[in-house]
Amino acid sequence: MNERQIIEYIAAQADPTDGQLLKGIGDDCAVIRKDGNRVWLLTMDTLIESVHFNRDFHPPEKLGRKAVSVNVSDIGAMGGKPVFVLLSAGMPHGFDEAWFRAFVSGLTEACREYGCFIIGGDTVASPGGLTFTLTVIGEAEADQVVYRSGARPDDAIWVSGPLGLAAAGLELLNAGIEPDNQAFDLLREKHLNPQARVSLGQQLAASGRVHAMMDLSDGLATDLAHLCKQSGVGARLFARDLPGVAMLADAARLTGCDPERWALSGGEDFELLFTANPDESFHLGGIAEACGLSIFPVGVIVVGVGVTLIRSAADGTNHEIAIAYQGFDHFRNGNGG
Ligand SMILES: [Mg+2]
Repeated sequence: MNERQIIEYIAAQADPTDGQLLKGIGDDCAVIRKDGNRVWLLTMDTLIESVHFNRDFHPPEKLGRKAVSVNVSDIGAMGGKPVFVLLSAGMPHGFDEAWFRAFVSGLTEACREYGCFIIGGDTVASPGGLTFTLTVIGEAEADQVVYRSGARPDDAIWVSGPLGLAAAGLELLNAGIEPDNQAFDLLREKHLNPQARVSLGQQLAASGRVHAMMDLSDGLATDLAHLCKQSGVGARLFARDLPGVAMLADAARLTGCDPERWALSGGEDFELLFTANPDESFHLGGIAEACGLSIFPVGVIVVGVGVTLIRSAADGTNHEIAIAYQGFDHFRNGNGG
């Protein structure tokens, strides 16, 4: 089974019938009614040593921050505000206490910055490496929550920042390439200490102009395919519009990798992916600018299924390639992510 089949199997068995549950499996968060106008948003993510992080090059403070960011990113992707955090920590006997204190310091610092705090959890002895699972509970106005399922044909598709930087940074770190180069610092930092676009997500949702939204964790090719499937539509991406590819050129040359592949399927971008009427471009760009960010149009929603990439050749002809679900899959790739 691949990752998608595992999730679909569990969803088919789960059969939730609780009237308080507004959205179960299939979006960035589960959505539960809180009171008249508000909802709780619930999400969970795990970081496992040697799978998601390498202690040889991942400073513990930054890993603590990342554990929070990758979780609150899902809350922001539905337009919510993170409130409570639960932490389950699995650590081997004789773990490095100084390392652990630094990890917790990064974790609590990031919680403060995102406006949430730890309220409980669990600690267990791990026979292998370190594992950290966070559950984050957020809240939102019920009528402002943005789901993956609202994309409509002819919507424009935007992302909230350059793509593939984290994948390139990880490749540089794994290869031990550490030239004194500010551009490479930016790539490495995107892997070590990503920033979740929580404020932007909240403001896009509050604007009422966004039809569908999610965060990019497994790469645009896979995440957009999820959004399309939930919305019952297809999508076309334009290779020439993928933001960030030029920033990856030096790193790609040094490591022998393909920058476009990083942008489409690298994973861990933690930028927002959203759709809206193309006429909203100016207004949505203004919202991003007020958050110190830029948004980039990358494609269009179409009637149909699947995600295709359009590449224009030098002679002016267009080539279409099917790319749905070609991003990261924890059970196909066997590492990272
Ligand atoms: Mg997500």
